[in-house]
Amino acid sequence: MENPQGKRVVVIGAGIVGASLAYHLAQKGAQVSLVEAHEIASGVTATSFAWLHATHPGPDPIAQLRGAAIQEYHRLQTQLPGLQIQWTGALSYDGSPPASTNRVSRAQILELEPNLKQPPDYATYVAEEGALDAVAATHALVAGAQAHGAKLLTQTPVLGFVTEGQQVTGVETSRGIIHADIVVLAAGTGTARLTDMLHVSLPITASPSIFIRYKPQPKLVHTLISNPHMEVRQNADGALLAAEDYLGDAEENRADAIALRTAKAIDHELNGLACLEPELACVGLRPIAADGIPIIGYLPQVAGVYVCTMHPGVALAAVVGRLASEEMLEDKPAEALGGCRPGRFFRG
Ligand SMILES: Cc1cc2nc3c(=O)[nH]c(=O)nc-3n(C[C@H](O)[C@H](O)[C@H](O)COP(=O)(O)OP(=O)(O)OC[C@H]3O[C@@H](n4cnc5c(N)ncnc54)[C@H](O)[C@@H]3O)c2cc1C
Repeated sequence: MENPQGKRVVVIGAGIVGASLAYHLAQKGAQVSLVEAHEIASGVTATSFAWLHATHPGPDPIAQLRGAAIQEYHRLQTQLPGLQIQWTGALSYDGSPPASTNRVSRAQILELEPNLKQPPDYATYVAEEGALDAVAATHALVAGAQAHGAKLLTQTPVLGFVTEGQQVTGVETSRGIIHADIVVLAAGTGTARLTDMLHVSLPITASPSIFIRYKPQPKLVHTLISNPHMEVRQNADGALLAAEDYLGDAEENRADAIALRTAKAIDHELNGLACLEPELACVGLRPIAADGIPIIGYLPQVAGVYVCTMHPGVALAAVVGRLASEEMLEDKPAEALGGCRPGRFFRG
Protein backbone atom coordinates (compact mmCIF):
# COMPACT_ATOMS: atom_id res chain seq x y z
CA MET A 1 0.00 0.00 0.00
CA GLU A 2 1.71 3.24 -1.11
CA ASN A 3 -0.26 5.50 1.20
CA PRO A 4 -1.58 3.90 4.37
CA GLN A 5 -3.16 7.23 5.40
CA GLY A 6 -6.87 6.84 5.07
CA LYS A 7 -6.81 3.04 4.95
CA ARG A 8 -9.71 2.03 7.20
CA VAL A 9 -8.88 -0.94 9.41
CA VAL A 10 -11.21 -2.56 11.92
CA VAL A 11 -9.41 -4.64 14.55
CA ILE A 12 -11.73 -7.04 16.36
CA GLY A 13 -10.58 -7.81 19.92
CA ALA A 14 -8.83 -5.62 22.48
CA GLY A 15 -6.66 -8.31 24.07
CA ILE A 16 -2.90 -7.82 23.94
CA VAL A 17 -2.71 -9.01 20.31
CA GLY A 18 -5.46 -6.70 19.00
CA ALA A 19 -4.10 -3.80 21.07
CA SER A 20 -0.63 -4.24 19.59
CA LEU A 21 -2.04 -4.43 16.06
CA ALA A 22 -4.17 -1.33 16.65
CA TYR A 23 -1.15 0.54 17.98
CA HIS A 24 1.16 -0.38 15.10
CA LEU A 25 -1.50 0.22 12.42
CA ALA A 26 -2.50 3.62 13.86
CA GLN A 27 1.15 4.63 14.24
CA LYS A 28 1.60 4.00 10.51
CA GLY A 29 -1.31 6.29 9.69
CA ALA A 30 -4.24 3.91 9.19
CA GLN A 31 -7.73 4.90 10.42
CA VAL A 32 -8.17 2.24 13.06
CA SER A 33 -11.33 1.18 14.89
CA LEU A 34 -10.63 -1.25 17.73
CA VAL A 35 -13.86 -3.08 18.47
CA GLU A 36 -14.21 -5.11 21.67
CA ALA A 37 -17.21 -7.16 22.86
CA HIS A 38 -16.45 -6.50 26.53
CA GLU A 39 -13.64 -4.41 28.01
CA ILE A 40 -9.93 -3.93 27.26
CA ALA A 41 -7.98 -7.09 28.20
CA SER A 42 -11.04 -8.96 29.41
CA GLY A 43 -10.24 -12.17 27.50
CA VAL A 44 -7.43 -14.63 28.19
CA THR A 45 -4.97 -11.73 28.39
CA ALA A 46 -6.40 -11.03 31.88
CA THR A 47 -5.23 -14.43 33.15
CA SER A 48 -1.82 -14.67 31.50
CA PHE A 49 1.37 -15.57 33.31
CA ALA A 50 2.88 -13.23 30.69
CA TRP A 51 6.38 -14.64 30.43
CA LEU A 52 8.25 -13.02 27.55
CA HIS A 53 9.68 -16.32 26.55
CA ALA A 54 12.04 -16.25 23.57
CA THR A 55 13.32 -19.81 23.67
CA HIS A 56 11.73 -23.13 22.84
CA PRO A 57 13.09 -26.67 23.22
CA GLY A 58 13.44 -28.69 20.01
CA PRO A 59 12.70 -27.67 16.43
CA ASP A 60 10.68 -24.47 16.33
CA PRO A 61 8.71 -23.42 13.24
CA ILE A 62 8.41 -19.89 14.64
CA ALA A 63 12.01 -19.54 15.82
CA GLN A 64 12.45 -16.32 13.84
CA LEU A 65 9.40 -14.73 15.47
CA ARG A 66 10.36 -15.88 18.95
CA GLY A 67 13.93 -14.71 18.39
CA ALA A 68 12.75 -11.16 17.67
CA ALA A 69 10.16 -11.02 20.47
CA ILE A 70 12.40 -9.53 23.15
CA GLN A 71 14.02 -6.80 21.06
CA GLU A 72 10.57 -5.75 19.79
CA TYR A 73 9.42 -5.23 23.38
CA HIS A 74 12.52 -3.09 24.05
CA ARG A 75 11.55 -1.03 20.98
CA LEU A 76 7.99 -0.65 22.26
CA GLN A 77 9.27 0.51 25.65
CA THR A 78 11.04 3.41 23.96
CA GLN A 79 7.76 4.37 22.27
CA LEU A 80 5.29 3.75 25.10
CA PRO A 81 6.45 5.17 28.42
CA GLY A 82 3.53 3.44 30.20
CA LEU A 83 4.79 -0.02 29.20
CA GLN A 84 6.43 -1.59 32.26
CA ILE A 85 8.42 -4.83 31.85
CA GLN A 86 10.27 -6.77 34.54
CA TRP A 87 13.47 -7.79 32.75
CA THR A 88 14.43 -10.31 35.43
CA GLY A 89 15.62 -13.22 33.33
CA ALA A 90 14.16 -16.73 33.58
CA LEU A 91 15.61 -19.74 35.38
CA SER A 92 14.44 -23.16 34.16
CA TYR A 93 15.35 -26.71 35.15
CA ASP A 94 13.66 -30.06 34.86
CA GLY A 95 16.32 -32.57 35.85
CA SER A 96 17.73 -33.05 32.36
CA PRO A 97 21.20 -31.60 31.64
CA PRO A 98 20.75 -28.11 30.16
CA ALA A 99 22.44 -27.15 26.90
CA SER A 100 25.73 -25.32 27.33
CA THR A 101 24.23 -22.01 26.19
CA ASN A 102 22.79 -20.12 29.14
CA ARG A 103 23.81 -22.87 31.56
CA VAL A 104 24.36 -21.78 35.16
CA SER A 105 25.85 -23.74 38.06
CA ARG A 106 24.38 -24.33 41.49
CA ALA A 107 26.43 -21.46 42.95
CA GLN A 108 25.18 -19.10 40.24
CA ILE A 109 21.61 -20.33 40.76
CA LEU A 110 21.85 -19.47 44.46
CA GLU A 111 23.16 -16.02 43.62
CA LEU A 112 20.13 -15.48 41.41
CA GLU A 113 17.61 -17.13 43.74
CA PRO A 114 18.99 -17.30 47.29
CA ASN A 115 15.66 -18.54 48.67
CA LEU A 116 15.60 -21.81 46.73
CA LYS A 117 15.55 -24.71 49.18
CA GLN A 118 16.67 -27.32 46.66
CA PRO A 119 18.77 -25.65 43.97
CA PRO A 120 19.71 -28.09 41.19
CA ASP A 121 23.30 -28.65 40.06
CA TYR A 122 22.60 -26.87 36.78
CA ALA A 123 19.84 -24.83 35.23
CA THR A 124 19.22 -22.68 32.19
CA TYR A 125 19.15 -18.96 32.84
CA VAL A 126 18.03 -16.71 29.98
CA ALA A 127 18.98 -13.26 31.20
CA GLU A 128 17.22 -11.45 28.35
CA GLU A 129 13.76 -12.76 29.17
CA GLY A 130 11.21 -11.10 31.42
CA ALA A 131 7.54 -10.72 32.15
CA LEU A 132 4.92 -8.02 32.26
CA ASP A 133 1.49 -7.25 33.57
CA ALA A 134 -0.49 -8.21 30.47
CA VAL A 135 -3.53 -6.13 31.39
CA ALA A 136 -1.47 -2.98 32.05
CA ALA A 137 0.53 -3.58 28.84
CA THR A 138 -2.69 -3.91 26.83
CA HIS A 139 -3.96 -0.61 28.26
CA ALA A 140 -0.62 1.04 27.38
CA LEU A 141 -0.90 -0.22 23.79
CA VAL A 142 -4.51 0.92 23.46
CA ALA A 143 -3.60 4.35 24.86
CA GLY A 144 -0.76 4.50 22.31
CA ALA A 145 -3.16 3.58 19.51
CA GLN A 146 -5.62 6.26 20.64
CA ALA A 147 -2.82 8.83 20.75
CA HIS A 148 -2.35 8.05 17.02
CA GLY A 149 -6.06 8.55 16.34
CA ALA A 150 -7.47 5.02 16.79
CA LYS A 151 -11.10 4.80 17.93
CA LEU A 152 -11.94 2.34 20.70
CA LEU A 153 -15.39 0.80 20.98
CA THR A 154 -15.85 -1.41 24.04
CA GLN A 155 -19.05 -3.32 24.87
CA THR A 156 -19.45 -3.67 21.12
CA PRO A 157 -19.58 -7.27 19.88
CA VAL A 158 -19.06 -7.87 16.19
CA LEU A 159 -22.13 -9.79 15.04
CA GLY A 160 -21.44 -10.25 11.34
CA PHE A 161 -19.67 -8.96 8.25
CA VAL A 162 -20.63 -6.68 5.40
CA THR A 163 -19.59 -8.21 2.09
CA GLU A 164 -19.59 -7.24 -1.57
CA GLY A 165 -19.10 -10.41 -3.58
CA GLN A 166 -16.03 -12.12 -2.13
CA GLN A 167 -14.78 -8.93 -0.48
CA VAL A 168 -15.46 -8.03 3.15
CA THR A 169 -16.15 -4.30 3.33
CA GLY A 170 -17.06 -3.87 6.96
CA VAL A 171 -18.44 -5.33 10.17
CA GLU A 172 -21.87 -5.35 11.72
CA THR A 173 -21.69 -4.50 15.40
CA SER A 174 -24.23 -4.07 18.16
CA ARG A 175 -23.92 -0.32 17.48
CA GLY A 176 -24.20 -0.46 13.70
CA ILE A 177 -22.00 -1.01 10.66
CA ILE A 178 -18.37 0.07 10.45
CA HIS A 179 -16.98 0.15 6.92
CA ALA A 180 -13.41 -1.03 6.42
CA ASP A 181 -10.79 -1.77 3.80
CA ILE A 182 -9.32 -4.47 6.04
CA VAL A 183 -10.89 -6.34 8.94
CA VAL A 184 -8.41 -7.91 11.39
CA LEU A 185 -9.58 -10.86 13.47
CA ALA A 186 -7.68 -10.67 16.77
CA ALA A 187 -10.51 -12.14 18.79
CA GLY A 188 -8.55 -14.94 20.50
CA THR A 189 -10.76 -17.99 20.98
CA GLY A 190 -13.61 -15.97 19.40
CA THR A 191 -11.78 -15.87 16.05
CA ALA A 192 -13.14 -19.20 14.80
CA ARG A 193 -16.73 -18.07 15.48
CA LEU A 194 -16.04 -15.02 13.31
CA THR A 195 -14.56 -17.00 10.43
CA ASP A 196 -17.49 -19.43 10.65
CA MET A 197 -19.72 -16.46 9.78
CA LEU A 198 -17.71 -16.21 6.56
CA HIS A 199 -18.14 -19.97 5.99
CA VAL A 200 -14.45 -20.52 6.62
CA SER A 201 -13.52 -23.02 9.29
CA LEU A 202 -10.28 -22.46 11.21
CA PRO A 203 -9.12 -25.17 13.66
CA ILE A 204 -8.56 -23.04 16.76
CA THR A 205 -9.06 -24.72 20.12
CA ALA A 206 -9.68 -23.06 23.46
CA SER A 207 -6.90 -24.68 25.49
CA PRO A 208 -7.36 -24.34 29.25
CA SER A 209 -4.58 -23.42 31.64
CA ILE A 210 -4.66 -22.25 35.25
CA PHE A 211 -3.56 -18.85 36.47
CA ILE A 212 -3.03 -18.16 40.17
CA ARG A 213 -2.24 -14.95 42.00
CA TYR A 214 -1.29 -15.11 45.68
CA LYS A 215 -1.46 -12.18 48.07
CA PRO A 216 1.70 -10.02 48.15
CA GLN A 217 4.80 -11.33 49.92
CA PRO A 218 8.10 -9.72 50.85
CA LYS A 219 10.62 -10.00 47.96
CA LEU A 220 11.43 -13.70 47.54
CA VAL A 221 11.59 -14.53 43.86
CA HIS A 222 13.97 -12.46 41.78
CA THR A 223 13.77 -14.14 38.37
CA LEU A 224 11.05 -16.26 36.83
CA ILE A 225 11.43 -19.86 38.02
CA SER A 226 10.17 -22.79 35.99
CA ASN A 227 10.71 -26.31 37.31
CA PRO A 228 8.59 -29.47 37.40
CA HIS A 229 6.96 -28.36 40.68
CA MET A 230 6.13 -24.75 39.93
CA GLU A 231 6.19 -21.93 37.42
CA VAL A 232 6.36 -18.82 39.52
CA ARG A 233 7.35 -15.18 39.46
CA GLN A 234 6.79 -12.17 41.68
CA ASN A 235 4.96 -9.10 40.51
CA ALA A 236 6.16 -5.57 41.16
CA ASP A 237 3.46 -5.29 43.88
CA GLY A 238 4.82 -8.42 45.64
CA ALA A 239 2.06 -10.79 44.50
CA LEU A 240 3.36 -14.25 43.64
CA LEU A 241 2.01 -15.43 40.30
CA ALA A 242 1.86 -19.03 39.13
CA ALA A 243 0.71 -20.92 36.05
CA GLU A 244 -0.34 -24.56 36.25
CA ASP A 245 -1.59 -27.23 33.86
CA TYR A 246 -5.32 -27.77 33.66
CA LEU A 247 -6.09 -31.32 34.82
CA GLY A 248 -9.79 -31.61 34.03
CA ASP A 249 -13.00 -30.59 35.70
CA ALA A 250 -13.04 -33.00 38.68
CA GLU A 251 -13.66 -31.34 42.06
CA GLU A 252 -10.05 -31.91 43.22
CA ASN A 253 -8.69 -30.26 40.08
CA ARG A 254 -10.71 -27.07 40.24
CA ALA A 255 -8.57 -23.93 40.00
CA ASP A 256 -8.99 -23.10 43.71
CA ALA A 257 -7.93 -26.65 44.72
CA ILE A 258 -4.90 -26.46 42.43
CA ALA A 259 -4.02 -23.07 43.94
CA LEU A 260 -3.84 -24.66 47.40
CA ARG A 261 -1.73 -27.60 46.14
CA THR A 262 0.57 -25.24 44.25
CA ALA A 263 1.00 -23.14 47.42
CA LYS A 264 2.28 -26.27 49.19
CA ALA A 265 4.63 -27.03 46.29
CA ILE A 266 6.00 -23.46 46.35
CA ASP A 267 6.45 -23.68 50.12
CA HIS A 268 8.44 -26.87 49.58
CA GLU A 269 10.70 -25.02 47.12
CA LEU A 270 11.24 -21.62 48.74
CA ASN A 271 12.50 -20.34 52.08
CA GLY A 272 10.97 -17.32 53.75
CA LEU A 273 7.35 -17.56 52.61
CA ALA A 274 4.65 -15.93 54.65
CA CYS A 275 1.31 -17.77 54.38
CA LEU A 276 0.51 -18.15 50.67
CA GLU A 277 -3.09 -17.09 50.28
CA PRO A 278 -4.66 -17.30 46.82
CA GLU A 279 -6.19 -14.01 45.71
CA LEU A 280 -7.33 -15.30 42.33
CA ALA A 281 -7.34 -18.78 40.79
CA CYS A 282 -9.00 -19.28 37.44
CA VAL A 283 -8.92 -21.12 34.15
CA GLY A 284 -7.93 -19.12 31.08
CA LEU A 285 -8.60 -20.33 27.54
CA ARG A 286 -5.63 -19.98 25.22
CA PRO A 287 -6.33 -19.73 21.48
CA ILE A 288 -4.21 -22.51 19.98
CA ALA A 289 -4.36 -23.68 16.37
CA ALA A 290 -4.61 -27.44 15.71
CA ASP A 291 -0.92 -27.53 14.74
CA GLY A 292 0.15 -25.21 17.58
CA ILE A 293 1.49 -22.57 15.21
CA PRO A 294 0.09 -19.00 15.16
CA ILE A 295 -2.44 -18.18 12.44
CA ILE A 296 -1.42 -14.88 10.89
CA GLY A 297 -2.28 -13.53 7.45
CA TYR A 298 -5.11 -12.97 4.98
CA LEU A 299 -7.85 -15.55 4.66
CA PRO A 300 -7.51 -17.06 1.18
CA GLN A 301 -11.27 -17.46 0.61
CA VAL A 302 -12.47 -13.89 1.14
CA ALA A 303 -10.66 -10.64 0.43
CA GLY A 304 -10.03 -8.06 3.12
CA VAL A 305 -9.83 -10.31 6.20
CA TYR A 306 -6.54 -10.68 8.08
CA VAL A 307 -6.39 -13.24 10.92
CA CYS A 308 -4.10 -12.81 13.90
CA THR A 309 -4.51 -15.48 16.55
CA MET A 310 -1.77 -17.19 18.50
CA HIS A 311 -0.17 -18.68 21.55
CA PRO A 312 2.04 -17.45 23.17
CA GLY A 313 0.26 -14.23 22.34
CA VAL A 314 1.80 -12.06 25.05
CA ALA A 315 5.38 -12.90 24.10
CA LEU A 316 4.68 -12.44 20.38
CA ALA A 317 2.35 -9.42 20.48
CA ALA A 318 5.05 -6.80 19.91
CA VAL A 319 6.81 -8.48 16.99
CA VAL A 320 3.59 -9.65 15.34
CA GLY A 321 2.00 -6.20 15.72
CA ARG A 322 4.85 -4.63 13.78
CA LEU A 323 5.21 -7.30 11.08
CA ALA A 324 1.46 -7.69 10.45
CA SER A 325 0.96 -3.92 10.24
CA GLU A 326 3.78 -3.73 7.67
CA GLU A 327 2.13 -6.47 5.64
CA MET A 328 -1.25 -4.74 5.70
CA LEU A 329 -0.14 -1.16 5.09
CA GLU A 330 3.19 -1.38 3.28
CA ASP A 331 2.72 -4.54 1.23
CA LYS A 332 5.82 -5.96 2.92
CA PRO A 333 5.31 -9.71 3.32
CA ALA A 334 7.19 -10.85 6.42
CA GLU A 335 9.33 -13.93 5.92
CA ALA A 336 9.07 -14.66 9.67
CA LEU A 337 5.30 -15.08 9.28
CA GLY A 338 5.66 -17.48 6.34
CA GLY A 339 4.82 -20.61 8.36
CA CYS A 340 1.81 -18.98 10.03
CA ARG A 341 -0.49 -18.46 7.03
CA PRO A 342 -4.15 -19.49 7.34
CA GLY A 343 -3.89 -21.04 3.86
CA ARG A 344 -2.03 -24.05 5.30
CA PHE A 345 -5.37 -25.41 6.53
CA PHE A 346 -6.97 -25.31 3.08
CA ARG A 347 -4.35 -26.83 0.76
CA GLY A 348 -5.76 -29.45 -1.53
C1 LIG B 1 -2.57 -19.54 32.69
C2 LIG B 1 -2.06 -18.92 31.41
C3 LIG B 1 -0.71 -18.63 31.30
C4 LIG B 1 -0.23 -18.06 30.12
N1 LIG B 1 1.08 -17.75 30.07
C5 LIG B 1 1.58 -17.14 28.99
C6 LIG B 1 2.93 -16.73 28.97
O1 LIG B 1 3.67 -16.94 29.94
N2 LIG B 1 3.38 -16.09 27.85
C7 LIG B 1 2.57 -15.85 26.78
O2 LIG B 1 3.02 -15.27 25.81
N3 LIG B 1 1.29 -16.26 26.77
C8 LIG B 1 0.77 -16.88 27.84
N4 LIG B 1 -0.54 -17.25 27.88
C9 LIG B 1 -1.33 -17.07 26.66
C10 LIG B 1 -1.70 -15.62 26.44
O3 LIG B 1 -2.40 -15.15 27.57
C11 LIG B 1 -2.55 -15.51 25.17
O4 LIG B 1 -1.85 -16.09 24.08
C12 LIG B 1 -2.83 -14.05 24.81
O5 LIG B 1 -3.32 -13.33 25.93
C13 LIG B 1 -3.85 -14.01 23.68
O6 LIG B 1 -4.23 -12.67 23.50
P1 LIG B 1 -5.37 -12.30 22.48
O7 LIG B 1 -5.39 -10.82 22.41
O8 LIG B 1 -5.17 -13.07 21.23
O9 LIG B 1 -6.70 -12.91 23.12
P2 LIG B 1 -7.73 -12.31 24.18
O10 LIG B 1 -7.04 -11.68 25.32
O11 LIG B 1 -8.69 -13.40 24.49
O12 LIG B 1 -8.45 -11.16 23.38
C14 LIG B 1 -9.44 -11.39 22.42
C15 LIG B 1 -10.53 -10.35 22.63
O13 LIG B 1 -11.47 -10.46 21.55
C16 LIG B 1 -12.72 -10.16 22.05
N5 LIG B 1 -13.74 -10.71 21.14
C17 LIG B 1 -13.97 -12.03 20.86
N6 LIG B 1 -14.97 -12.14 19.97
C18 LIG B 1 -15.37 -10.87 19.68
C19 LIG B 1 -16.40 -10.34 18.85
N7 LIG B 1 -17.19 -11.12 18.10
N8 LIG B 1 -16.54 -9.00 18.79
C20 LIG B 1 -15.73 -8.17 19.51
N9 LIG B 1 -14.76 -8.64 20.34
C21 LIG B 1 -14.58 -9.96 20.42
C22 LIG B 1 -12.75 -10.81 23.42
O14 LIG B 1 -13.72 -10.23 24.26
C23 LIG B 1 -11.32 -10.57 23.91
O15 LIG B 1 -11.22 -9.40 24.71
C24 LIG B 1 -1.08 -17.80 29.02
C25 LIG B 1 -2.43 -18.07 29.15
C26 LIG B 1 -2.93 -18.63 30.32
C27 LIG B 1 -4.40 -18.89 30.47
